[in-house]
Amino acid sequence: MDKHYSLAILGGGCAGLSLAMRLSEAGSSAPSTLVLERNAHYKNDRTWCFWDVANPELKDWVDHSWLNFEIKNGIKNFTRGCKKYAYLMLSAQTFYEHSLAKIASNGQGITLLNNQDVLEVSKTHNQTWQIITTKGTYTADKIVDTRPITQNKDEDSILWQSFIGFEVETSQDMFDSNTFVLMDFDAAFNQGLGFVYVLPYSSKRALIEYTIFAKQTFAADEFSGYMQQSLLKYLKDINYKILRTEYGKLPMGNQKINKTNDPSYVYAGLYAGAARPSSGYAFQRIQRWAKECAHALINHQLLVAPKKDTWILARMDDLFLNVLKSNPKSSVHLFYNLFLNCKTSTVIRFLSDHARMADYFSIIASMPKLLFIKELPAYIFKRLFKYQHD
Ligand SMILES: Cc1cc2nc3c(=O)[nH]c(=O)nc-3n(C[C@H](O)[C@H](O)[C@H](O)COP(=O)(O)OP(=O)(O)OC[C@H]3O[C@@H](n4cnc5c(N)ncnc54)[C@H](O)[C@@H]3O)c2cc1C
Repeated sequence: MDKHYSLAILGGGCAGLSLAMRLSEAGSSAPSTLVLERNAHYKNDRTWCFWDVANPELKDWVDHSWLNFEIKNGIKNFTRGCKKYAYLMLSAQTFYEHSLAKIASNGQGITLLNNQDVLEVSKTHNQTWQIITTKGTYTADKIVDTRPITQNKDEDSILWQSFIGFEVETSQDMFDSNTFVLMDFDAAFNQGLGFVYVLPYSSKRALIEYTIFAKQTFAADEFSGYMQQSLLKYLKDINYKILRTEYGKLPMGNQKINKTNDPSYVYAGLYAGAARPSSGYAFQRIQRWAKECAHALINHQLLVAPKKDTWILARMDDLFLNVLKSNPKSSVHLFYNLFLNCKTSTVIRFLSDHARMADYFSIIASMPKLLFIKELPAYIFKRLFKYQHD
């Protein structure tokens, strides 16, 4: 039997490392912590972006920022400035390097073990948790479980966001590194909403991503046609090399949030409610949770689960996603209008969970009313049905 820990974090990805890193900042006041991660090594496997609203966490670590963005629908394009709230990018590589260094600086207090696939977790007769991995058995008083659900079904989320991104380097200057493409809608895509997202890091280097919002998930190999078409559109016939690729599948309106009734075991991360339903973005929400949970643990309080959204935000996202799901053909129009008719700062605050009351009214006013009115009876029925079964 290996050592006993005060806390075991299952999964050392974004949420697991963020919590461990926040605990490490407390030095010797941090509870003895074990992080168990399945992967043997960390790779530059994702690109986290968020808006510079309300002093976001880890802003000092960002690799790139943009002050303008473009929205394109194939016929009309427009550019918006976002000087007030820049768009920030933090690569997984930078995040892993910095967070691992912080965790290591705590010395013996926080142990990260890679190559440990957690197989089983159970409560022992003396009320501690026993964790069995491919490499050993450990015990802990408390558990934070950030492992993603792998067996998720399409119906577990209102919509899914699937995407594949290629980081490319071109032989000639091709990009404007001050302006990124937030949404370049693909009018020909008919299984939901399809769009290209482009993050130029320099005149010769960019991440080009094809994203789909749909009822079902799309596997990486289903993107090849869309990706080829996107590369052709943005790189024309110039020479380029692919430096790396990234793939993601995020729940938008997760109906199966992981939770327990035991205060000594909480779920955290993407499948515990961290993903913002209407965007799938989770990075800043994970950072805020990690800080709060670490603070509670350092002060000998109970574990903190990810926060629920406010009533108004949850209802707006829920209704918006249901409208998108029922009207896939109108989704380009919905997003295009949102950015065209609303003030950029309003939309950015809304997307970043920092909307003011006036922002909610502006967002509602920018939406095509008929679509929402048509969706309301079915939506209200669904909500009532849900309450009866909760
Ligand atoms: C490619 C990509 C790009 C994204 N871009 C953005 C973005 O721009 N902005 C944003 O806000 N959000 C973004 N997200 C969404 C979200 O921020 C990330 O998915 C984030 O990594 C979620 O953190 P997590 O800890 O829940 O999951 P992960 O970071 O995936 O961590 C879970 C960890 O658990 C480990 N694990 C799984 N099973 C086991 C097991 N049995 N035993 C031990 N370990 C296990 C995994 O190896 C993994 O390291 C992106 C997601 C992806 C995939």
